[in-house]
Amino acid sequence: LAKESGKNTFQFYTAHLQERSSRKMELENGLRKALEQNQLLLHYQPQVDLQSGEIIGVEALVRWIHKEHGFISPAEFIPLAEETGLIVPLGKWVLKEACSQMKSWHDQGFAKIPIAVNISVRQIQDDHFVDSVKRTLKEVGLEPTYLELEITESVMQNIEKSTLILKQLKELGLKVSIDDFGTGYSSLSYLKHLPIDNIKIDKSFVDDIIYHINQGVMVKTIIDMGINLGFNVIAEGIETKEQVNFLKENACMVGQGYFFSRPLTADKLEELFKSGQMTVV
Ligand code: C2E
Ligand code: MG
Ligand code: MG
Ligand code: MG
Repeated sequence: LAKESGKNTFQFYTAHLQERSSRKMELENGLRKALEQNQLLLHYQPQVDLQSGEIIGVEALVRWIHKEHGFISPAEFIPLAEETGLIVPLGKWVLKEACSQMKSWHDQGFAKIPIAVNISVRQIQDDHFVDSVKRTLKEVGLEPTYLELEITESVMQNIEKSTLILKQLKELGLKVSIDDFGTGYSSLSYLKHLPIDNIKIDKSFVDDIIYHINQGVMVKTIIDMGINLGFNVIAEGIETKEQVNFLKENACMVGQGYFFSRPLTADKLEELFKSGQMTVV
């Protein structure tokens, strides 16, 4: 009997695996097509000055609405794109789209704020990355100081190469942020060496700051350390007024999260700009 059920479990398991890998293959092909056929789009989430409530930047987040499966989260398709190398052309498209959109907002006389764009390690390590960023900025006509590249701690896997590339990027005049700070690399010593401007405290730390004292201490410590090292500190995933208060009391200046605004379509954000309502609290 045990043998029987073991076999069933095994069959169930392989069926499950097959299902997963066929969805993966389907998504892989689908993603390639989506990129070719211009079916990806960007949403934009405001970054807010915690004292004044003013929008002082926006982060571009890629979206894919699949013809059959509907909305697919970037948390699912970005890793896939990284695995297949498709992240390089996809990332180029995102960068160009985000920069042109911000340039157009600048030209229309809306607030002159920066655009933050997520960049995968795989993109950074592509030999043409720096040139490609430089070319994009030039083509689009966006001043480099209005571009912020968000990278994760995984760039530390290859610290020498990453440092070199980040230095070249900074020479172009743009800004660099460490995204999901605190979730990746265990050693903090890299922070002293890397040419970065901002650290973004990961949502998982912000989630429990009110109810778990240890979590609060952790966030407070990250903020202090960031400030002392000369970085701007941005808190991600803020959902409640209590979190805002805690962060403000502990000298965190900038925040992002559903409490202020979900990521919005370009049109919706533009409406917000047009209404002159640059404050979201
Ligand atoms: P991320 O860069 O850390 O972006 C923050 C994520 O948290 C976004 O999810 C955003 O919609 C979500 N978020 C923001 N505020 C809140 C909140 O208050 N509550 C909750 N529950 N969630 C919040 P999204 O858009 O699904 O993106 C997930 C991740 O996918 C991003 O994390 C980023 O790592 C990656 N990603 C998104 N767009 C791109 C892209 O264009 N290129 C690359 N390489 N990665 C991207
Ligand atoms: Mg990000
Ligand atoms: Mg993040
Ligand atoms: Mg993330």
